[in-house]
Amino acid sequence: MNQHTRFNLPLCLKVEEDAFSHAEEIVTEYLPGIKGQKSLVISEQFLIDLYSEKIRDIQRDFYDAELYTMGNAEYDEAVVIAKRICMEDIKIVIGIGGGRVLDTAKYAAFISKAVFICLPTTLSNDSLASPFAVLGTVNQNRKTLPCKIPTAIIVDTDLILNAPIAQTLSGIGDTLAKYTALYDWRLSAAAAGTPIDDFADGIASLSFDSVFHCDEKNLKSKSFIRILSRALVMGGLAMEIADSTRPCSGSEHLFCHAIEEYYPQLKISHGVGVALGSIGACVFQGRDESRLMEVMLEYGIDMNPMSYGITKDIFFDLWRKAPETRPNRVTILNSTKPDRAWLDEIYDRMCETAHEKSQ
Ligand SMILES: [Zn+2]
Repeated sequence: MNQHTRFNLPLCLKVEEDAFSHAEEIVTEYLPGIKGQKSLVISEQFLIDLYSEKIRDIQRDFYDAELYTMGNAEYDEAVVIAKRICMEDIKIVIGIGGGRVLDTAKYAAFISKAVFICLPTTLSNDSLASPFAVLGTVNQNRKTLPCKIPTAIIVDTDLILNAPIAQTLSGIGDTLAKYTALYDWRLSAAAAGTPIDDFADGIASLSFDSVFHCDEKNLKSKSFIRILSRALVMGGLAMEIADSTRPCSGSEHLFCHAIEEYYPQLKISHGVGVALGSIGACVFQGRDESRLMEVMLEYGIDMNPMSYGITKDIFFDLWRKAPETRPNRVTILNSTKPDRAWLDEIYDRMCETAHEKSQ
């Protein structure tokens, strides 16, 4: 296969104030052919209530688009939406929301071959530009399904500034977790005797660097929102180029999957879950975790596992179950089996460091 036709890139990425009010203009500048085509806006109830006026304006601008109110981010629902898109000859799907809405809309657009326009309302993880959708299947199980990268990504800084800070912290955690994800990816490629894609590696590393070395730590500043938006999109591009989630997802993600699958009652965001996971992963990888931990704390991520109800027993159980969540994924956990004493020590150190910094 020709290496250079292997991947898709979004036609546009705009990060602007009040961008949603001229989303149609932005998109048609790149894709004039979609003008007047039948469109569907997908969002969820609380966002429709919160941003009723903005969403109504977007419906009007996109040729009187209908509005679909999403329930759960489930595979079955994405298929129902895709059927409607096909039956009603809808050509444009506009997802307005966080990861759940965007993944459902992205997958529905992918299987129905509609153009997907991504309008994130939060910067909570790198799924906003990734060629994958994580959807619920049966019980608590969620599956990562390959699909297509969005055609257009438009970030309205007004909405991001209005989103809860916890969402932005999640996006920061997901980006900083690339430190251990990239290491695990290189490790697994070496084990398989295959080279990794240098460009995917480089882009994911840049995404990490832009947040890790960022002097602007004011999460409510426009310049930071621009940096984080780009970092998350770059993570998505790295996955697209690598044709895998691996540049952005290693053993720290397995730790977070274990939380989602075995302890769904714990209240912790995806990005913070992987941030906590990356500290353990970093130690297992034989690398110094102190600076990574410091930067996470500087941004204001609470790195104390106790704050989320993760006790020492749960911490041990999460790391024990982590490899089972994606059995085919080679990470540091294939060669390093952390025992209870080691995990207790990491747990204590995380609690202490988080506590010291909060003083
Ligand atoms: Zn992630």
